[in-house]
Formats: sequence, structure tokens, C-alpha cells
Amino acid sequence: MQKIIIAIDGYSSTGKSTVAKELAKHLGYVYVDTGAMYRAVTFFAMTHNLIDDDHFDVLGLVSKLNEVKINFKFNPTLGFAEVYLNGENIEKEIRTLEVSNKVSKVATVPEVRYQLVKQQQKMGEDKGLVMDGRDIGTVVFPYAKLKIFMTASPEKRAKRRYDELISRGDKVTFEAVLKNVQERDYIDSHRKDSPLRKAEDAIVIDNTGFTQEEQFKLILRLVERVFEDM
Ligand code: C5P
Repeated sequence: MQKIIIAIDGYSSTGKSTVAKELAKHLGYVYVDTGAMYRAVTFFAMTHNLIDDDHFDVLGLVSKLNEVKINFKFNPTLGFAEVYLNGENIEKEIRTLEVSNKVSKVATVPEVRYQLVKQQQKMGEDKGLVMDGRDIGTVVFPYAKLKIFMTASPEKRAKRRYDELISRGDKVTFEAVLKNVQERDYIDSHRKDSPLRKAEDAIVIDNTGFTQEEQFKLILRLVERVFEDM
């Protein structure tokens, strides 16, 4: 059967990556978490003292972008691909609230976006891809056969992220996580380069009242409809 590209965009912590991973596994497709790539660049900037809470050396980061090599390697035990920065597994390091608090600033830099979008487009050359992010249906793959735009109430999203962080042993408050989710949504939707917005032909899913299973079934039906029309 012909392979397609599935673009899943939406607000922070809407469960995009969970459903994208599940979908990729079900279809035998590759899954790419583009947020992890922006997080990896942010982690690089942090470890090179180019960004902290009140300073961001944009030019310094841009001049060092050629030193940033991001790869994904499939971990069969976990069942998904983990992100590597210059050969080092940084999957855990990039999920902290410290990285979350800086990543949207880093994602406003056009040179960063240009580099990452180029890599993402290369990953889609063979199709058979589920990619999640903020600009996949609008910029990275505007011709994707299926585009989904996910949303949910800020409280539900913050609760999801809060539970994730707590289960990993991070010491965070619900209020700090909610603030981060809302700030990222604001910066992501208002930046000049590739702002977060729904592609005209994307299907909106508000999963506030959905279980994970209900949402997966719904998306699978959408995929099957695309295949039927091909
Ligand atoms: O998906 P995740 O929440 O890990 O993304 C982290 C951040 O990376 C987003 O809040 C956004 O600032 C940025 N991002 C982006 N474009 C993408 C994916 C993520 O700007 N395609």
C-alpha cells in the first residue's frame, strides 16, 4: 500500500507524541518528535552558557549551529526513537521544566528553524512517517495527506505534563507547569517565523473529554479514510 505522511500539530502537552507514537507503531511507520529537536538545540545552548533565565545570546547560538548534530535512535525496549545530541543520549535531559522554560525562545530563531526543518523534510523523503510539532502541516509538509491539529483545555494539558514530570521524580508544582504551558502557547502562536496555527486543511481534535483510546480510534478512522480515497 502507498505510504503517506501524517502531520500532527497542536498546543503544548495535548498528547500529540503519545498518539503519534501509537499510530506509527500500528502502521509500521517512522515517528519523529520535532519538539525533541528544538529541545536538543535548547539543551545545547544551555550547556554552552548561551541561554539562561534572563539572557539569550542568539548570535552565539547561530554561530555554533554547525556544531549541533541531532539523531534519533530506535530503542527497542522503549518502543520509540530516543534523541541524541552529538552522539550522546539526551532523552531525559531535554524533558525537564528548565528546558521547557527556554525552548520556545530558541524556537523563534529563524536560523534554528531553517536547519531543523531541512532535516525534518529529509526524514520524510520515503514517506511512511508520522511527525508531530507546531509547523508540520503548515511549513514542513504542507502537502501531507493527513493533518491533525490537537487542542485541549490548558488545565488538562498542564495536568498531563505535571503527572509526567512527577512520575519521573522531578520536583515541580502544578502552577509552574500550567504557567509554562500557557507561556509556550503564547510564544509559539505569536512568533514571526512559522507560528503555531492550524493548517487550513487540518482536522481539529479537542481531546479535553476523550480517553487516549477514544482519541486513537478516531485518528485511526481518519487514516483509514485517507487510504480509502487514494
Ligand atoms: O512538542 P514539545 O512540547 O516538546 O515542543 C517544545 C517546543 O519546541 C514547543 O513549545 C515549540 O516552542 C518548539 N517547537 C516548534 N516547532 C516544532 C516543534 C516544537 O517551534 N515543530
